[in-house]
Amino acid sequence: MIVSMKRYATREEIDAVCERIRDFGYKIHAIEGEERVVIGAVGVGDVTACLESLEAMPSVEKAVRISAPYKFVSKEFRKGRTVVKLNGLEIGGDDFAVMAGPCSVESEKQIMETAESVRRAGAKALRGGAFKPRTSPYDFQGLEEDGLKLLSKARQNTGLAIVTEVMSDRDVPLIAEYADIMQVGARNMQNFALLKALGKCGRAVLLKRGMSSTIKELLMSAEYIVAHGNPNIILCERGIRTFETETRNTCDLVAVPVLNSLTHLPVLVDPSHATGKRSLVPALSRAAVAIGADGLIVEVHPCPEKAVSDGAQSLHLDEFERMMDELKGYTALWKNSRAQAAGA
Ligand code: PEP
Ligand code: MN
Repeated sequence: MIVSMKRYATREEIDAVCERIRDFGYKIHAIEGEERVVIGAVGVGDVTACLESLEAMPSVEKAVRISAPYKFVSKEFRKGRTVVKLNGLEIGGDDFAVMAGPCSVESEKQIMETAESVRRAGAKALRGGAFKPRTSPYDFQGLEEDGLKLLSKARQNTGLAIVTEVMSDRDVPLIAEYADIMQVGARNMQNFALLKALGKCGRAVLLKRGMSSTIKELLMSAEYIVAHGNPNIILCERGIRTFETETRNTCDLVAVPVLNSLTHLPVLVDPSHATGKRSLVPALSRAAVAIGADGLIVEVHPCPEKAVSDGAQSLHLDEFERMMDELKGYTALWKNSRAQAAGA
């Protein structure tokens, strides 16, 4: 249930409402807002009696039952957008945010060259997997901590934020030492032990949609992370599995405005895993800007032909630069429409 207080309710009034909520057997989960406080409560109790009792309190503007099974990530809980902020970078704010880099961290030369190049092209974060979820156990599994060290060196050299995948709850503390954004891959979207551990990791989380997951399931996974203490979540549409075989996955692009209507969390599109083909990445990226995504996460490699993973969908460095140039016109329109929406 969500309880919206009257503007400028006093501390005592807020405390009294919290106490009434607890009397009905609910737990206060989060309190938000400065001008107008919104209280989120979870648990099992007599909802109707509780809502009636709360609405009878003069300091309460409105008390509503949330029918969606997710609460804290829902638009009802927070009207404005969540802006995930990390050392100078904002995701979900006034700028279209692009993250780019190789599928896997392979060597110092590869990651440094990519980092410099994507930074010059306008990317704000460097992606690169050090722990890789591979379909075959015989495929390259990642450089692990050595890879994390290379990413951290690339951050030192370029100032780019680092986004890298975490596959297991056991690895969370190690990866949190190096990463700015902890990526949950599609295959782990419902790894609940991992989601719980990320609630306490103190880092932003990039949560990718599972390849067979619904939008509601994606939001429920985000809810896990918030319910365990971490509100800094970025969602990512990376394509879902359908009967189509011409592309690696089918990009559910309309998931972006659907998510924008249901949640305050920022949403990225991953045009690389969504298509599996580098030739399709620029067109899908333009579409992602047009449909209102908050940014992109793109695979880029200095020599995709030699990449140990996902070479076919990785852009060459100069292709990425060209794509970023071409996107400028589109992102200018994006900024206008975002400013208009904020003013409306
Ligand atoms: C990746 O980002 O390299 C990756 C493995 O992505 P996904 O989890 O979306 O397949
Ligand atoms: Mn990849």
